[in-house]
Amino acid sequence: MIKGFKGRLIAPGDADYAGHRRIWNEAVRARPALLARCADADDVALAIGHAHGRGLPLTVRAGGHNFAGRSLADGGVVIDVRDLNGIAVDPERRIARLGAGLRWGRVDPALQKHGLATTGGSVSKVGVAGFTLGTGLGWLGRLHGLAGDNLTGATVVTADGAVRDVGPHADPDLYWALRGAGTGLGVVTEFRMRLFPLVRPATGMLVHRLEDAHEVLWRVVEATAEAPAHLNWAAVLTGAPPVPALPDDVQGRPVFLVPVFSTGPDGVDDPYVRALRRIGRPLLDTIAPTDFCAFQTSTDDAAPDGTHWDVRSEWLTRLDGPAIDHAAAMIEEASSPLSEFLFRPLGGAIAAPDAPDTPFSYRHAAFMTEVIANWTTGDGAAERAWTDKGLSGLMHLSAGGPDVNHLGLDEEASRAQAAYSPATRARLARIKSSYDPAGTFTSPPWFAC
Ligand SMILES: Cc1cc2nc3c(=O)[nH]c(=O)nc-3n(C[C@H](O)[C@H](O)[C@H](O)COP(=O)(O)OP(=O)(O)OC[C@H]3O[C@@H](n4cnc5c(N)ncnc54)[C@H](O)[C@@H]3O)c2cc1C
Repeated sequence: MIKGFKGRLIAPGDADYAGHRRIWNEAVRARPALLARCADADDVALAIGHAHGRGLPLTVRAGGHNFAGRSLADGGVVIDVRDLNGIAVDPERRIARLGAGLRWGRVDPALQKHGLATTGGSVSKVGVAGFTLGTGLGWLGRLHGLAGDNLTGATVVTADGAVRDVGPHADPDLYWALRGAGTGLGVVTEFRMRLFPLVRPATGMLVHRLEDAHEVLWRVVEATAEAPAHLNWAAVLTGAPPVPALPDDVQGRPVFLVPVFSTGPDGVDDPYVRALRRIGRPLLDTIAPTDFCAFQTSTDDAAPDGTHWDVRSEWLTRLDGPAIDHAAAMIEEASSPLSEFLFRPLGGAIAAPDAPDTPFSYRHAAFMTEVIANWTTGDGAAERAWTDKGLSGLMHLSAGGPDVNHLGLDEEASRAQAAYSPATRARLARIKSSYDPAGTFTSPPWFAC
């Protein structure tokens, strides 16, 4: 169907169409007209030409974990890069060349073999591509920056079919855009990422009763206000993990979790880790020296494939009591134990004065919040209304907009646009018109300025 195409072309009538089309979020309904599983950059260029010649919507698919399903468009052509999955690590230069179809679950162990790591997803099934081309906030983020901060270059096939080696000195504007706002501009076939020495971390989970969330979160925020960048944590209000060690009266009920991640030299004796463990009366404390890759996969089961999801997110200037109380009350109303409120701190390398100039517009924010709804049956209307209500109780703390990697289903264009500052959006629009003047790639909503 595409002359010279070496990979696989799959259309709706094919027996394995459903399998190839399937993405993580079952709530996404779009049915593309053609899935092009590309074998190399030449295939990518051929698929671009095919879609452009027919005026079909054109999207790119990597890990398939975008909540809003932006890798699929109804009636469109999907450039599926999952078979571009090579990994080459240069331990001397501390650079990895990563095929654009990889997920973090394959990358982290390959880097760990060399005693190296980079900022990757905190769920290992997430794709390197969408993660890096968006915010790319992971457990190593406070120490080493966002994924885009560590992108040293990339190979990109642009709308004209050219294969470009993009970096600080070659197509610098496109390189800048890829470091945080890189979808809809071309197809990345390979990422080049900066690596860092991997320190065996102290990690684990502190599980508290939901009714203690207010006091505990407050004390965690105070205890970590001056914490060094090697200390990271999160606050999660969600269903109790299925662990027999938890008391019967919290089994199947919402709880308050504080995951802790430290790569400090003192391991579990790190003073900040010790301070966090002393707060409140945890029902469970699993903090221990941990294999990095084991930690990176430890919450995969809380995000299973084959079910329905929506999300709302926002960068926050701070946290306050009403916000915590709101989250605690709302999680009691959630219809699924997998629904959650999540708060993640920023700071460290993300906010450093010498942080690189990238499209990321919220280095000044103190926290990111996600309100995630899960459902297995029904049309999801109640769950999706729950995410809106959940976010509305936090908006008085907004730093200005949502996280581009956690935009939900059908969010208004104005919300998507607020993921970037007006100056960043204006620069992105100029880059889009330079590299994709005919609008061959389906534009993400933040280009609709
Ligand atoms: C369970 C879960 C956990 C998550 N954890 C984190 C986290 O810890 N930190 C974080 O920052 N985000 C996180 N995310 C958000 C995630 O990073 C984004 O949803 C991201 O878009 C997913 O990338 P993907 O490659 O898996 O998805 P896809 O849906 O395949 O792609 C996402 C977007 O990138 C585009 N794209 C994909 N490949 C390419 C390419 N090669 N060239 C150009 N464009 C491309 C797609 O067209 C689409 O717009 C998480 C998401 C989920 C579902």
